Amino acid sequence: MEKNLKKLPEEILSLIYLSRDIAEELGFNAYLIGGFVRDLILGVKNLDLDIAVEGDGIKFADNLAQRLNVKLTRHKRFGTATLTVKPQLKLDIATTRKEFYPEPACLPVVNIGMLKDDLARRDFTINTLAISISGKKFGELINLFDGENDINNKNIRILHNLSFIDDPTRILRAIRFEQRYNFKIEPNTLKCLKEAVKLKILNIVQPQRLRDELILLLKEENSLRAIKRIRKLVGFNFINPALSISAKTYDLFNSISRQIRWFKSKFVLHRKLDVWLIYFMALIDFLKVNQVKSLCRRFVFCKGEEKRILSYMKLRSKIMLKLSRNKIKPSSIFHLLEPLSYEVILLIKAKSKNKNIKKHIEDFFHIYHRTDISVSGHDLKDLGFTPGPGYQKIFNKLLNAKLNGEIKTKKQELDLVKRLKNK
Ligand code: ATP
Repeated sequence: MEKNLKKLPEEILSLIYLSRDIAEELGFNAYLIGGFVRDLILGVKNLDLDIAVEGDGIKFADNLAQRLNVKLTRHKRFGTATLTVKPQLKLDIATTRKEFYPEPACLPVVNIGMLKDDLARRDFTINTLAISISGKKFGELINLFDGENDINNKNIRILHNLSFIDDPTRILRAIRFEQRYNFKIEPNTLKCLKEAVKLKILNIVQPQRLRDELILLLKEENSLRAIKRIRKLVGFNFINPALSISAKTYDLFNSISRQIRWFKSKFVLHRKLDVWLIYFMALIDFLKVNQVKSLCRRFVFCKGEEKRILSYMKLRSKIMLKLSRNKIKPSSIFHLLEPLSYEVILLIKAKSKNKNIKKHIEDFFHIYHRTDISVSGHDLKDLGFTPGPGYQKIFNKLLNAKLNGEIKTKKQELDLVKRLKNK
C-alpha cells in the first residue's frame, strides 16, 4: 500500500509521516483505518483521515496537535479526538477498542482492545481495512475480513449475521454505501437486512441515531437512489407511519437538485446550504403540520433546523399563492422571502410549476435580497425626530421605497424622510 500512500497529496502524506514519527516516539502502533483506507483503494478522494492507535489515542492526538499547532477536540469518554488541520482536512484519532452489544439496538459497551477487536466491531467488510503507519510495517495493508476482495467485487457485506440486530442503523448505512459506490448488498447480507426489517428493529433504535444516518444519506450526491432503495427494502415507518413516497417525491428531488445547482452556480458567496434539510423537507412534504411537529420532537432536531422545517410547513401555501401573481411589488416579494431560510426558498422554487413564482424568487436572490437603507437613527435624530418606535416605521417606508425603485441614493432617502416629517 506504500505506493498508494505516495500518490496522496503532499499535505496528507506529510501528516501521515508525522503520525508515524509520533507513534514511534511514544511506542504505539498506529493505523490508518476505515473509510479513508476504503476510499484510498477505490481511488476516491477523502480528506477525513481516521487513525487508530494501539496505546493511548488521546496522548497521541495531543502530541500531533502540538506539533501541527492546530485545534484538538477531545472526546475523553470514547478515547477519541478530532484534529482539524484545515476546514476540509480532518483527522479522527481513536484508541483501538472492543465493543459488545448487551441488548439489540442499544449502544454497545466499549473497552480498550487491539486492532483486531477494533476491526471486528465495524459495520461492513469494506470498512475493516487498515494500513499500518508505524515502524517497519509502514504501508502494510491489514485485511483480516477480506474487505479488499469485497471492494474489488463491489460487495457490501456484514461481518456476522446479527450485525443489523446489534445496530439497526447499519441498515441505512448499507444502503448509503451501496448507492454511493454502485455496489451490491451481497445475498446473505440482504437476507439478514430483510429479516431485521421484518422484526421492526428500526422501531426500537434511539431516534436521534436514525436521524443522523438519514442526514448522512440525504447529504449524498445521489440521495434519490438511496431513497428509492429504502422504499423498496425498508419503508419509511421509521420516519412516520403516514409517510409514503411517490413519483411526485422523486420529481421533487430531481427538481431540488436542479435548483441547488442553479443556486450554487449563481451565488457562490452566499452562506453554505444545508442540502440535506431541503431533501428532508421534501420527504415529509405530505405529512400534516402536527405530524411534522411530533417528528421534530422525536428526532430532536436543533432549534434552527426545527424552525426552518416548521416555517416551510406553515407558510408554503400562503407564499406560493402570493408569489403566483404576475404583478407583485418588489417590497412584497422581499417581505415574504427575506425572513425565510435559503433552504425553504429553494424548496418552494423547486416545488412550483408556476413561472411567476420562479421568476419572483430569482429576482429576490438577484436584486432584492439583503437590500438595506443608508439613513440611520442618528440621521433621524439630526432631522428632529424623537427616538422611539416611530423610527422603525420610517425605516420600513424607506426600505419599501428603495425596493420599489422610488429612491436610490442616501440623499433621496433623506428627502423622503423630510417629506414624511412635513406630512
Ligand atoms: P464516510 O465516507 O461516509 O464518512 P466512513 O466510513 O468514514 O464513511 P463514518 O460514519 O465516518 O463512515 O464512520 C467511520 C468508521 O466507523 C466506518 O468506516 C465504520 O467502520 C465505523 N462505523 C461507523 N458507524 C458504524 C456502525 N453503526 N457500526 C459499525 N461500525 C461503524
